[in-house]
Amino acid sequence: MHFTGTVYRNPYWPTFPLLQITQGCTHNSCKFCTMYRDVQFKMQPLEWVEEDLRELAEIAPDATTIQLLSANPLALSYDRLLPYLELIRKYLPNMEYVYAATRVTDIRNKTVEQLKAMKELGVREISMGVESGDDWTLERINKGYHAEDIIEQCHKLDEAGVAYWMTFLNGVAGKEHSRDHAVHSAEIFSQCHPMLVGTGGLTLFPGTPLLEEAQRGAFTPLSEKEMLEELKLFAENLTCDCTFITHHTVAGQNLTGSNFLQRKDKIIAALDHEIRHGDMDRMAAIRRNKRTL
Ligand code: SF4
Repeated sequence: MHFTGTVYRNPYWPTFPLLQITQGCTHNSCKFCTMYRDVQFKMQPLEWVEEDLRELAEIAPDATTIQLLSANPLALSYDRLLPYLELIRKYLPNMEYVYAATRVTDIRNKTVEQLKAMKELGVREISMGVESGDDWTLERINKGYHAEDIIEQCHKLDEAGVAYWMTFLNGVAGKEHSRDHAVHSAEIFSQCHPMLVGTGGLTLFPGTPLLEEAQRGAFTPLSEKEMLEELKLFAENLTCDCTFITHHTVAGQNLTGSNFLQRKDKIIAALDHEIRHGDMDRMAAIRRNKRTL
Protein backbone atom coordinates (compact mmCIF):
# COMPACT_ATOMS: atom_id res chain seq x y z
CA MET A 1 0.00 0.00 0.00
CA HIS A 2 1.16 3.53 -0.72
CA PHE A 3 0.76 5.61 2.44
CA THR A 4 2.64 8.89 2.21
CA GLY A 5 3.01 11.92 4.46
CA THR A 6 0.97 11.89 7.66
CA VAL A 7 -2.32 10.03 7.61
CA TYR A 8 -5.21 10.08 10.07
CA ARG A 9 -8.31 7.94 10.00
CA ASN A 10 -11.69 8.41 11.62
CA PRO A 11 -11.85 5.86 14.48
CA TYR A 12 -15.66 5.80 14.40
CA TRP A 13 -15.70 4.31 10.89
CA PRO A 14 -14.35 0.84 10.07
CA THR A 15 -10.60 1.32 10.12
CA PHE A 16 -9.90 -1.29 7.48
CA PRO A 17 -9.52 -0.98 4.57
CA LEU A 18 -8.02 2.47 4.17
CA LEU A 19 -7.17 3.98 0.80
CA GLN A 20 -5.09 7.10 0.39
CA ILE A 21 -6.07 9.14 -2.64
CA THR A 22 -4.68 12.50 -1.52
CA GLN A 23 -1.92 13.58 0.81
CA GLY A 24 -2.28 16.43 3.32
CA CYS A 25 -4.91 19.16 3.50
CA THR A 26 -5.74 21.73 0.80
CA HIS A 27 -6.26 24.46 3.40
CA ASN A 28 -3.64 23.60 6.02
CA SER A 29 -3.99 26.91 7.82
CA CYS A 30 -6.60 26.58 10.56
CA LYS A 31 -5.02 28.31 13.53
CA PHE A 32 -5.46 25.41 15.95
CA CYS A 33 -4.38 22.51 13.74
CA THR A 34 -1.03 20.80 13.32
CA MET A 35 -2.28 17.61 11.69
CA TYR A 36 -0.78 18.14 8.26
CA ARG A 37 1.47 21.14 8.95
CA ASP A 38 4.53 19.64 7.27
CA VAL A 39 2.74 17.84 4.46
CA GLN A 40 2.11 19.35 1.07
CA PHE A 41 -1.27 18.63 -0.52
CA LYS A 42 -0.99 16.21 -3.45
CA MET A 43 -3.16 13.76 -5.31
CA GLN A 44 -1.88 10.19 -5.19
CA PRO A 45 -1.14 8.98 -8.71
CA LEU A 46 -3.98 6.90 -10.10
CA GLU A 47 -1.53 4.03 -10.80
CA TRP A 48 -0.62 3.85 -7.08
CA VAL A 49 -4.28 3.79 -6.11
CA GLU A 50 -4.95 1.03 -8.64
CA GLU A 51 -2.04 -0.99 -7.23
CA ASP A 52 -3.40 -0.52 -3.72
CA LEU A 53 -6.86 -1.60 -4.82
CA ARG A 54 -5.44 -4.71 -6.49
CA GLU A 55 -3.81 -5.56 -3.18
CA LEU A 56 -7.04 -4.94 -1.28
CA ALA A 57 -9.00 -7.03 -3.79
CA GLU A 58 -6.79 -9.96 -2.82
CA ILE A 59 -7.02 -9.56 0.93
CA ALA A 60 -10.55 -8.15 1.30
CA PRO A 61 -12.44 -8.90 -1.94
CA ASP A 62 -15.84 -8.65 -0.21
CA ALA A 63 -15.18 -5.30 1.49
CA THR A 64 -18.31 -3.19 1.73
CA THR A 65 -16.71 -0.14 3.38
CA ILE A 66 -13.56 1.85 2.81
CA GLN A 67 -12.13 5.08 4.27
CA LEU A 68 -10.52 7.51 1.89
CA LEU A 69 -7.48 9.39 3.16
CA SER A 70 -6.26 11.94 3.90
CA ALA A 71 -7.58 15.28 5.27
CA ASN A 72 -10.00 16.17 2.50
CA PRO A 73 -9.87 13.94 -0.58
CA LEU A 74 -13.24 15.27 -1.74
CA ALA A 75 -11.55 18.60 -2.48
CA LEU A 76 -10.86 17.16 -5.92
CA SER A 77 -13.34 18.21 -8.57
CA TYR A 78 -15.95 15.66 -9.58
CA ASP A 79 -14.10 14.96 -12.83
CA ARG A 80 -10.84 14.24 -11.02
CA LEU A 81 -12.52 12.19 -8.31
CA LEU A 82 -14.58 10.00 -10.61
CA PRO A 83 -11.72 7.76 -11.89
CA TYR A 84 -10.75 6.99 -8.26
CA LEU A 85 -14.33 6.10 -7.30
CA GLU A 86 -14.77 3.98 -10.41
CA LEU A 87 -11.57 2.07 -9.62
CA ILE A 88 -12.87 1.30 -6.13
CA ARG A 89 -16.06 -0.11 -7.65
CA LYS A 90 -14.06 -2.10 -10.20
CA TYR A 91 -11.79 -3.81 -7.66
CA LEU A 92 -14.19 -3.99 -4.71
CA PRO A 93 -17.56 -4.53 -6.40
CA ASN A 94 -19.52 -4.99 -3.15
CA MET A 95 -18.53 -1.53 -1.94
CA GLU A 96 -21.42 0.26 -0.21
CA TYR A 97 -19.80 2.98 1.90
CA VAL A 98 -16.88 5.12 0.75
CA TYR A 99 -16.24 7.31 3.80
CA ALA A 100 -14.26 10.55 3.66
CA ALA A 101 -13.48 13.60 5.77
CA THR A 102 -14.17 16.91 4.04
CA ARG A 103 -14.05 20.64 4.40
CA VAL A 104 -17.25 22.62 3.83
CA THR A 105 -15.52 24.21 0.83
CA ASP A 106 -14.99 20.80 -0.81
CA ILE A 107 -18.70 20.58 -1.59
CA ARG A 108 -18.76 23.98 -3.33
CA ASN A 109 -17.26 22.70 -6.57
CA LYS A 110 -19.87 19.95 -6.99
CA THR A 111 -23.45 20.14 -8.18
CA VAL A 112 -26.26 18.24 -6.49
CA GLU A 113 -26.37 15.92 -9.51
CA GLN A 114 -22.66 15.20 -9.13
CA LEU A 115 -23.09 14.53 -5.42
CA LYS A 116 -25.89 12.10 -6.28
CA ALA A 117 -23.62 10.33 -8.78
CA MET A 118 -20.89 10.10 -6.12
CA LYS A 119 -23.43 8.62 -3.74
CA GLU A 120 -24.22 5.94 -6.33
CA LEU A 121 -20.53 5.05 -6.21
CA GLY A 122 -20.61 4.76 -2.41
CA VAL A 123 -19.95 8.27 -1.09
CA ARG A 124 -22.98 8.20 1.16
CA GLU A 125 -21.51 9.37 4.47
CA ILE A 126 -18.90 12.08 5.02
CA SER A 127 -17.63 14.02 8.00
CA MET A 128 -17.11 17.78 7.96
CA GLY A 129 -14.84 19.58 10.39
CA VAL A 130 -17.14 22.61 10.60
CA GLU A 131 -15.85 23.75 14.05
CA SER A 132 -18.09 26.83 14.39
CA GLY A 133 -21.15 28.48 12.90
CA ASP A 134 -20.15 31.89 14.20
CA ASP A 135 -18.66 34.19 11.55
CA TRP A 136 -16.40 36.07 13.98
CA THR A 137 -14.95 32.77 15.20
CA LEU A 138 -14.60 31.28 11.71
CA GLU A 139 -12.61 34.35 10.63
CA ARG A 140 -10.57 34.31 13.83
CA ILE A 141 -9.45 30.71 13.38
CA ASN A 142 -8.99 31.08 9.63
CA LYS A 143 -11.38 28.32 8.58
CA GLY A 144 -11.78 29.82 5.11
CA TYR A 145 -15.59 29.97 4.93
CA HIS A 146 -18.58 31.62 6.57
CA ALA A 147 -21.76 30.44 8.23
CA GLU A 148 -23.82 30.94 5.08
CA ASP A 149 -21.45 28.59 3.21
CA ILE A 150 -22.12 25.89 5.81
CA ILE A 151 -25.87 26.11 5.29
CA GLU A 152 -25.60 26.28 1.52
CA GLN A 153 -23.29 23.27 1.18
CA CYS A 154 -25.13 21.18 3.76
CA HIS A 155 -28.41 21.79 1.96
CA LYS A 156 -26.80 20.47 -1.24
CA LEU A 157 -25.80 17.33 0.64
CA ASP A 158 -29.35 17.05 2.02
CA GLU A 159 -30.77 17.30 -1.49
CA ALA A 160 -28.34 14.70 -2.81
CA GLY A 161 -29.11 12.36 0.11
CA VAL A 162 -25.50 12.22 1.30
CA ALA A 163 -25.33 11.85 5.10
CA TYR A 164 -22.88 14.10 6.93
CA TRP A 165 -21.29 14.68 10.30
CA MET A 166 -20.67 18.18 11.62
CA THR A 167 -18.09 18.93 14.29
CA PHE A 168 -18.20 21.71 16.88
CA LEU A 169 -14.83 22.72 18.33
CA ASN A 170 -15.54 23.58 21.94
CA GLY A 171 -13.39 26.43 23.28
CA VAL A 172 -11.96 27.63 19.97
CA ALA A 173 -13.41 31.17 20.28
CA GLY A 174 -11.69 31.74 23.62
CA LYS A 175 -13.26 33.45 26.61
CA GLU A 176 -14.43 36.65 25.01
CA HIS A 177 -16.45 35.04 22.24
CA SER A 178 -17.51 31.79 23.86
CA ARG A 179 -21.19 32.64 24.11
CA ASP A 180 -21.59 33.68 20.47
CA HIS A 181 -19.60 30.65 19.31
CA ALA A 182 -21.91 28.26 21.19
CA VAL A 183 -25.22 29.93 20.34
CA HIS A 184 -24.49 30.79 16.70
CA SER A 185 -22.98 27.35 16.02
CA ALA A 186 -26.06 25.64 17.42
CA GLU A 187 -28.29 27.92 15.31
CA ILE A 188 -26.39 27.13 12.11
CA PHE A 189 -26.08 23.39 12.80
CA SER A 190 -29.81 23.29 13.57
CA GLN A 191 -30.60 24.66 10.12
CA CYS A 192 -28.82 21.64 8.62
CA HIS A 193 -29.63 17.93 8.91
CA PRO A 194 -26.45 16.23 10.16
CA MET A 195 -26.71 12.53 10.95
CA LEU A 196 -24.15 13.17 13.67
CA VAL A 197 -22.85 16.15 15.60
CA GLY A 198 -19.46 15.58 17.18
CA THR A 199 -17.87 17.92 19.69
CA GLY A 200 -14.25 18.06 20.73
CA GLY A 201 -12.52 20.41 23.13
CA LEU A 202 -9.74 22.73 22.00
CA THR A 203 -6.21 21.74 22.93
CA LEU A 204 -3.50 24.31 22.22
CA PHE A 205 -0.79 22.31 20.47
CA PRO A 206 2.82 23.50 20.18
CA GLY A 207 3.47 25.16 16.86
CA THR A 208 -0.06 26.49 16.36
CA PRO A 209 -0.75 30.20 15.85
CA LEU A 210 -3.48 29.98 18.48
CA LEU A 211 -0.99 28.84 21.15
CA GLU A 212 1.35 31.65 20.14
CA GLU A 213 -1.56 34.13 20.47
CA ALA A 214 -2.41 32.72 23.89
CA GLN A 215 1.21 33.10 25.00
CA ARG A 216 1.25 36.78 24.10
CA GLY A 217 -2.17 37.40 25.63
CA ALA A 218 -4.13 37.83 22.40
CA PHE A 219 -6.24 34.72 22.98
CA THR A 220 -7.68 33.67 26.33
CA PRO A 221 -8.38 29.94 26.49
CA LEU A 222 -11.35 28.61 28.44
CA SER A 223 -10.84 26.66 31.65
CA GLU A 224 -12.15 23.08 31.70
CA LYS A 225 -15.23 24.31 33.56
CA GLU A 226 -15.85 27.07 31.03
CA MET A 227 -15.49 24.53 28.22
CA LEU A 228 -18.25 22.46 29.80
CA GLU A 229 -20.42 25.57 30.22
CA GLU A 230 -19.93 26.40 26.54
CA LEU A 231 -20.73 22.82 25.54
CA LYS A 232 -23.89 22.95 27.62
CA LEU A 233 -24.95 26.21 25.98
CA PHE A 234 -24.33 24.65 22.56
CA ALA A 235 -26.40 21.56 23.47
CA GLU A 236 -29.22 23.70 24.89
CA ASN A 237 -29.50 25.62 21.63
CA LEU A 238 -29.10 22.66 19.28
CA THR A 239 -32.48 21.64 17.85
CA CYS A 240 -31.63 19.14 15.10
CA ASP A 241 -32.06 15.45 15.79
CA CYS A 242 -28.85 13.53 15.33
CA THR A 243 -26.40 11.25 16.99
CA PHE A 244 -24.43 13.35 19.47
CA ILE A 245 -20.89 12.43 20.41
CA THR A 246 -18.41 14.34 22.43
CA HIS A 247 -14.73 13.88 23.10
CA HIS A 248 -14.89 16.22 26.04
CA THR A 249 -12.49 14.21 28.21
CA VAL A 250 -14.33 12.68 31.18
CA ALA A 251 -17.81 14.03 30.53
CA GLY A 252 -17.96 12.47 27.06
CA GLN A 253 -18.57 8.96 28.31
CA ASN A 254 -22.11 9.74 29.49
CA LEU A 255 -23.22 11.92 26.62
CA THR A 256 -22.58 9.97 23.47
CA GLY A 257 -25.48 8.30 21.63
CA SER A 258 -28.25 8.60 19.05
CA ASN A 259 -31.62 10.43 19.31
CA PHE A 260 -30.16 13.68 20.57
CA LEU A 261 -33.51 15.42 20.98
CA GLN A 262 -34.93 12.59 23.10
CA ARG A 263 -31.82 12.61 25.29
CA LYS A 264 -31.21 16.35 25.28
CA ASP A 265 -32.49 16.97 28.84
CA LYS A 266 -30.35 14.12 30.17
CA ILE A 267 -27.28 15.39 28.31
CA ILE A 268 -27.76 18.88 29.71
CA ALA A 269 -28.30 17.49 33.22
CA ALA A 270 -25.11 15.38 32.88
CA LEU A 271 -23.17 18.44 31.75
CA ASP A 272 -24.57 20.42 34.63
CA HIS A 273 -23.46 17.71 37.02
CA GLU A 274 -19.94 17.73 35.51
CA ILE A 275 -19.79 21.52 35.78
CA ARG A 276 -20.63 21.34 39.48
CA HIS A 277 -18.84 18.15 40.54
CA GLY A 278 -16.42 17.18 37.74
CA ASP A 279 -12.73 16.66 38.42
CA MET A 280 -11.38 19.61 36.44
CA ASP A 281 -7.75 18.79 37.26
CA ARG A 282 -8.17 15.33 35.79
CA MET A 283 -9.79 16.77 32.65
CA ALA A 284 -6.95 19.27 32.28
CA ALA A 285 -4.39 16.47 32.71
CA ILE A 286 -6.07 14.36 30.01
CA ARG A 287 -6.05 17.37 27.68
CA ARG A 288 -2.38 18.11 28.36
CA ASN A 289 -1.53 14.56 27.26
CA LYS A 290 -3.26 14.89 23.89
CA ARG A 291 -0.82 15.00 21.00
CA THR A 292 -3.15 15.82 18.11
CA LEU A 293 -6.72 16.86 17.32
S1 SF4 B 1 -8.52 21.52 10.78
FE1 SF4 B 1 -8.89 20.31 8.93
S2 SF4 B 1 -9.12 21.88 7.33
FE2 SF4 B 1 -8.11 22.88 9.03
S3 SF4 B 1 -5.92 22.71 8.60
FE3 SF4 B 1 -6.49 20.97 9.92
S4 SF4 B 1 -6.93 19.30 8.53
FE4 SF4 B 1 -6.97 21.19 7.31
